[in-house]
Amino acid sequence: MLNFIFLVTVFIIGFITGGLLNPIIIFAPKKNYRNVSDLYCPYCGRKYKFYEHISIFSYIFLNGCCASCNQKINYTNQYVILINIIFYFFSYLVYGFSPFAIILDLSLSICLALAVIQVKYNCIPRKLLIPCFVLALLTFIPQIGGDIMYYSKLIAAAVATVFYLILAFSIKSKKEEGLALITVAVILGLQNFVYALFLAFIFVILFLIFQSKKGGKMFNKIYIIPFITAGYFISALTGALFL
Ligand SMILES: [Zn+2]
Repeated sequence: MLNFIFLVTVFIIGFITGGLLNPIIIFAPKKNYRNVSDLYCPYCGRKYKFYEHISIFSYIFLNGCCASCNQKINYTNQYVILINIIFYFFSYLVYGFSPFAIILDLSLSICLALAVIQVKYNCIPRKLLIPCFVLALLTFIPQIGGDIMYYSKLIAAAVATVFYLILAFSIKSKKEEGLALITVAVILGLQNFVYALFLAFIFVILFLIFQSKKGGKMFNKIYIIPFITAGYFISALTGALFL
C-alpha cells in the first residue's frame, strides 16, 4: 500500500515537472533561436502566455485552446512528459526517495529539455546547463552523492574533458556539449560515466545505421546531448547491476 502511494506520488511529480518542460523548451533558447510558431497563436497572432504552454494546465482550464480565439493549441513536445515520467519511475525503483534521486531526476529533466532544444533549435542554453552543473557539484557532498567517491567523479570529469577535446577536433563540437559531458561525469562517477559514454556511442551507431537505411542524408554534425542523455539515464539506473 505504501509503495503504491509512493508510486502514484512519483507519477504525479514526473507528470508535473514533465509538463513544465514544454515552456522551458520554448523559452530557454535565446530570443533569436526561438521559434515564432511556438510563441504566437497561428490563428489570432496573440503571444501565448507562459501558462498556456503548460499543456496540462491548458487542458484543464482552457480546454487546450488559445485563451483569446479558442482555437486548439498545437502542442508538439508532449512526448517529453511521458519520457520524464519514465525517468522518475525508474529512478524511484532504483534509488527510492533519496537526495541522490532528486538530483538525478532534476538533472535528467534538464538534460531531456536540453536534448529537445538542441535538436529543434540547434542551441544549448547555458541558463539550463549551468543549474544542471551546480546540481552535479552538489553530489560531491557525501550525504547527497551516496557511495560514489569524489576522486572517481574527478577522474570521470577528466575523461569527459579529454573526450570532449577529441570531439571538438573531429566534429565541430560546442563548448556547452563539453560542460554537459562533465556534468554527467561528475554525477555518475568514473565507472558509470564510461558505461554511459559506451551506451551513447552505441546509440549514435544505431542512429547512423537507421538514417542510412532510411536513405536520409548523413549528418555532418551529430547532436551530442540526446545521445548522452539516453546513455546517462540507462547508466544511472542499470550501472549498479553490472558494475
Ligand atoms: Zn488565438
